[in-house]
Amino acid sequence: MMQIHISPANEGQRRPKPQDEDNLVFGKHFSDHMFLMDYDIDKGWHNARIIPYGSLSLDPAAMVLHYGQGIFEGLKAYRCADGTIQLFRPDKNFERFNRSARRMCMPEIDPEVQMQVLETLLKVDADWVPRKRGTSLYIRPTMIAVEPALGVRPAHQYLYYIITCPVGAYYAEGFNPVKIYVTDEYVRAVRGGVGEAKTMANYAASLYAAEVAKKKGFTQVLWLDAIERRYVEEVGTMNIFFRIGDELVTPPLSGSILPGVTRDSVIHIAKHWGIKVSERPITIDEVIETAQSGEMKECFGTGTAAVISPVGEIFYRDKTYVVNNGKVGEWSKRFYDEIVGIQYGEKEDIFGWVRKIT
Ligand SMILES: *Cc1c(COP(=O)(O)O)cnc(C)c1O
Repeated sequence: MMQIHISPANEGQRRPKPQDEDNLVFGKHFSDHMFLMDYDIDKGWHNARIIPYGSLSLDPAAMVLHYGQGIFEGLKAYRCADGTIQLFRPDKNFERFNRSARRMCMPEIDPEVQMQVLETLLKVDADWVPRKRGTSLYIRPTMIAVEPALGVRPAHQYLYYIITCPVGAYYAEGFNPVKIYVTDEYVRAVRGGVGEAKTMANYAASLYAAEVAKKKGFTQVLWLDAIERRYVEEVGTMNIFFRIGDELVTPPLSGSILPGVTRDSVIHIAKHWGIKVSERPITIDEVIETAQSGEMKECFGTGTAAVISPVGEIFYRDKTYVVNNGKVGEWSKRFYDEIVGIQYGEKEDIFGWVRKIT
């Protein structure tokens, strides 16, 4: 067990809590407290503390600002109808955090310590978990290299912190299929690179293509593999699934794809329902052909923020291909209802995925 020192926010340090739970903007309002913990190559992890939310003080030579050693996670705390709070598969996030850390030459944090400190923070800020069905408290554990030094090598000092923010229902305006733009000009990640780590540089690398897509009126970019620009990898910052005939197809975790918790959950549920799941390479040509022939019945992205994001149109080399007449597919809806039902404690937790906090 870690000793955690708690300094509660006083009246003046408390933050205005958004009252209108129908209009919570993602990532804008942060809760009263944050968790911090320091690492030093000689001392290991130490000085675990919960303090009022506020600015960090960093040396301008802090290595993350130069060499990009920074990783994060994203998960949510859900409030059930009876008022209790729970997490969905947090162990998967802690495990992935440590995989990202190893890839970026950063220190790992014992998953039990990660759970303990998150639980403590959530209890301190329990009132920040919004109440309306579909809302949640988004949790952002982060690690950055803070050693003040120039010169390319792994840092010797790190800061781990967790901030949280109440977020609205992703589909406040309904479960609408999005239009996606296939880029064969830009790539997100390359096998052997850092695409499978949740590291900051991947998001910086994705911005330009996302802006190009947005200017053309698309919501997300469909990423192809970096070498042949043929194999489908991800959509925006989500994993991607296709229903082709009565088979569920998703690209394999080949090294340039982020191993999503939602991806893994969809695969488990599909298998449990007796759906055939193939983790296999899928080319953009197969996507286009099956979309045109109607063999592709559904396409959707998966991620913590949206859970399931149905795709209605795919734009590739100046042509638009419509999926399922631009409508939400039956499986997309079924996966969404099942996962969200488990997250809010309304459906039976058959896989033991839920972790109660209060
Ligand atoms: C976080 C992320 C995902 C989705 O992961 P979940 O664990 O399902 O939220 C997929 N792709 C990328 C690039 C991501 O950063």
